[in-house]
Amino acid sequence: MKIKEKLNDIVSGLVKSMETAGTDWVKSWAGNGSINLVTKKGYRGINVLLLGYAKMKRCFKSGIWASFKQWNDKGYMVSGQSESIIFFKQTQKKIVDDDTGDTLLGDTYWMTRYYNVWNADQVISKNYLDWITCNYRYKEPVKTASEVEDNTDIDKYIENTGAVIKHGFDGAFYSPALDYIGMPDKSAFIDTKDADSTGNYYGTKLHELSHWTGHKKRLNRFGKAPKAFADNDYAYEELVAEISSAMLSIELGLDHEPRPDHAKYLNCWIARLKDDSGALISASTKAQQVLDYLDDMQDKKKAVA
Ligand SMILES: [Zn+2]
Repeated sequence: MKIKEKLNDIVSGLVKSMETAGTDWVKSWAGNGSINLVTKKGYRGINVLLLGYAKMKRCFKSGIWASFKQWNDKGYMVSGQSESIIFFKQTQKKIVDDDTGDTLLGDTYWMTRYYNVWNADQVISKNYLDWITCNYRYKEPVKTASEVEDNTDIDKYIENTGAVIKHGFDGAFYSPALDYIGMPDKSAFIDTKDADSTGNYYGTKLHELSHWTGHKKRLNRFGKAPKAFADNDYAYEELVAEISSAMLSIELGLDHEPRPDHAKYLNCWIARLKDDSGALISASTKAQQVLDYLDDMQDKKKAVA
């Protein structure tokens, strides 16, 4: 595809998204940019738009991208369609002087190069969630006053499950291999349009707690996505976790309604599931199992006490 067609495609897609989802989605990828797996540096310029748009259009949750070779060198396989990124390189024409045979430098011009990159969501690996753990660097905890207000009811609820939670990471994740939840420090959570820092902190924690229930010694849910999700177990697991954390938030009084930011992510998949209501029913059933499982742990704790 010519660069001009590609840019036109981006702009029309951008306009369409803004019409349907408001300007919010722009913020969500501008603040959570696209980075390269190896260099850990953010993509710049037009590539921010190219990858940000691809991420939104294809329902990718990760902002990590790399070439086929870069994924391979790290020991990962990727599958599916790649995205093109563009680099411009300034080059200077070389002219050979007929009389002297000297090489002279002529006009400068820009050369366009395309590279193909794959998103982290396209990694196919048995431990499809585990690679995430490797990609969040551990940071020394920042000792600043927390804006997040402690909610002792939710703290108690989570504590009763016995889930291991470690703070101080760049992002939130659950590692099935190591069986613990990684969280950023409380001070890293800020107010957003859809929820305050407290809502964002506990909402994230409950989302990861939902993943935690999927471990094979608990509800044994991983790697069992229905056909509608093709080979994308990760997306299915995310859908289950998003539905169950939204339900948990209501049960624990964190929010009175499902949060719009949850709904936005779910909509992305629901559009794809339109013709397959079975998959959505399956995900909701799994989410209910998460709730029942966690609630059951509360009762057991009370019975012992
Ligand atoms: Zn998740």
